[in-house]
Amino acid sequence: MASDKVSAEYGSLVFNDSVMQERLPKPTYKELSRVITRGDQLDFDIANEVAHAMKEWALEKGATHFTHWFQPLTGITSEKHDSFITPKKDGSTLMTFSGKELVQGEPDASSFPSGGLRATFEARGYTAWDPTSPAFIKDEVLCIPTAFISYTGEALDKKTPLLRSTVALDKQAKRVLELFGKHVTSVVTTIGPEQEYFLIKEEDYAARPDLILSGRTLFGCEPAKGQELEEHYFGSIRPTVNEFMKELDDELWKLGVPAKTKHNEVAPCQHELAPIFEGASMAIDHNLVTMEKMKLIASHHGLTCLEHEKPFDYVNGSGKHDNWSLSADGKNLLDPSDTPEENLQFLVFLTCVIAAVDKHQDLMRVSVASAGNDHRLGANEAPPAIVSIFLGDDLNAVVEALINGTEYASHSRTKMDLGVPMLADVMQDTTDRNRTSPFAFTGNKFEFRMCGSQQNLSDANMVLNTAVAEMLDEFATTMGPVYEADFVKNALAWIKDTLTAHQRIIFNGNGYSDEWPVEAEKRGLLNMKTTPDALPCLVKKENIELFEKYAVCSEAEMNARYVSKAEQYAKLLNIEAGVMVYMTRHLYLPALFDYSGDIATTVATKADLGIEAKSEKALVAQLTDGIDAISEAVAELEEKNEEAKAIADPKKIDDEYRDSVIPAMDKLRAAVDEMEKICGHDYWPVPSYNKMLFYV
Ligand code: ADP
Ligand code: MG
Repeated sequence: MASDKVSAEYGSLVFNDSVMQERLPKPTYKELSRVITRGDQLDFDIANEVAHAMKEWALEKGATHFTHWFQPLTGITSEKHDSFITPKKDGSTLMTFSGKELVQGEPDASSFPSGGLRATFEARGYTAWDPTSPAFIKDEVLCIPTAFISYTGEALDKKTPLLRSTVALDKQAKRVLELFGKHVTSVVTTIGPEQEYFLIKEEDYAARPDLILSGRTLFGCEPAKGQELEEHYFGSIRPTVNEFMKELDDELWKLGVPAKTKHNEVAPCQHELAPIFEGASMAIDHNLVTMEKMKLIASHHGLTCLEHEKPFDYVNGSGKHDNWSLSADGKNLLDPSDTPEENLQFLVFLTCVIAAVDKHQDLMRVSVASAGNDHRLGANEAPPAIVSIFLGDDLNAVVEALINGTEYASHSRTKMDLGVPMLADVMQDTTDRNRTSPFAFTGNKFEFRMCGSQQNLSDANMVLNTAVAEMLDEFATTMGPVYEADFVKNALAWIKDTLTAHQRIIFNGNGYSDEWPVEAEKRGLLNMKTTPDALPCLVKKENIELFEKYAVCSEAEMNARYVSKAEQYAKLLNIEAGVMVYMTRHLYLPALFDYSGDIATTVATKADLGIEAKSEKALVAQLTDGIDAISEAVAELEEKNEEAKAIADPKKIDDEYRDSVIPAMDKLRAAVDEMEKICGHDYWPVPSYNKMLFYV
């Protein structure tokens, strides 16, 4: 898109603030803005006026339908389209859309996972408009971002707890700011999700049942070339990919998604898109739209977009870095300032985040747990499964000085009254970027790097917001109504005590090293390597109490989340095991029978001619051994999967998949991959890693 067109078309498909200002009567606009910034209730008269304006606008843009767009526990988005038509007696039709239809919907979505919260006979759930994320038009449908709730008020989705956690954080952060004499309207969390993905040729994708059915390759021997030459990272972008990226930007900009940075990533065929950060709910909605558009637009260019965390072994997987900060009326609270007063405020917020992450390592870990992400965390390409915080040398020195009550002895130029240096100066020197840390301070925000590429970031942010809210609450409560003179002293004492108690979470070294897990264990940090290890944390007593205390999730909702995640893990692995069995029996074994049969025929023919075919004979023997190994492994996998599938208890079934089915899958893959190395190219039934990763 030409640059003048960009500014004209940016946000043209969004019912955003400027459209609202233009189309709503002034009092209505004011009332709606209040609802949006304060999170107040919307009254029905206002809703009717907003709905009318929204419909008129949508019709002008060519929309014929509307949908309540929501995020069930699967994490992906769901929609059911309703047209605006209301037929009249004379056979013509009106196009209508009421305030009630805007505010509340009833999708009868009884087949979504509810983790036992609803039996299907009482399946009614309803959707409720989230005015903090604007409506938009996608494929001629007016999409209204909504929360999805049961009739008894329980959250059936990812968005509701996220919104509740932002309310909790807003409340506690405001209490803290009051202590600093600041009366702000709202404190929101800001999120900038960096999305990684792979693009491969559509024809290769279509030839791989594993990619189609499970999103990742379940077989494939090591390619001759991987990512070792480091030429792809930030390298020049293939023309086809460039065309894809251009179209994607254009489409996203029209939808008001602030797509900013695009580049090649470390693995061949891997790319990244980073938008400019926004308020939490909107940023997550925009990330989900981005993921949907990526898939759609790839198909316009003969490509397929893979959003799985680990589409290919032997090269890096994909993550989604969750850049996170707090903003009070537009001012970043994690931005170190150069006035002593704000310096202290920064240190309070910093301390709260550090303590929150240490105290709730288990929840941080479980918020990113999935079968797909298990392939990344712990492998030397992504952060380890151990949660730790990177602060950088300078800020770490500040923390140590605060703990030890010593003078900060780095190269900082300015000393300050509080016993800590002027942080703005310190931070300017913080150029160190530790890529191996799961949770890193990057100048004026934290970056949570454990999130998987296909995950909905609501879970991670819901945990982070609630955990930080708890610490802010603790600080504000401890300070109480103190005299101003004592406040600085008391605050510093609290910071010192809190940092001392939670310092173990700070690790500035190499998270990929072999020493780190040993050291982490000494420090008492958790190391939950797999999803089944982590999931039970969701229903631990103290965690339920935390979410209940801040009205983010009830015990029933936490249980539901646990059951639904546990079920999803087992279901995904069951699919993967099933696909492996299918591909082995229907593709790999027949191909190997053909190849070994043809070579055997050659051996026989040559023998008739009195020629000893030594190499061919050896090859047939090797292929036959391989076929036997595969046949044995596939039978074993089938058996193990059947055994696991029969288990009803959500914890036991997941443990069984991890301990028994995954090893059987690994064994089968190894046997097949061994044969791929020696099977004739024309016989091998699916495209190889060499072909898929290095297309032109
Ligand atoms: P890197 O690759 O070095 O991590 P990028 O520029 O790709 O950095 O991504 C940084 C992300 O952080 C962007 O999405 C950016 O908008 C976001 N970001 C910057 N400031 C904030 C903030 N205050 N709150 C949340 N996200 C932020
Ligand atoms: Mg990053």
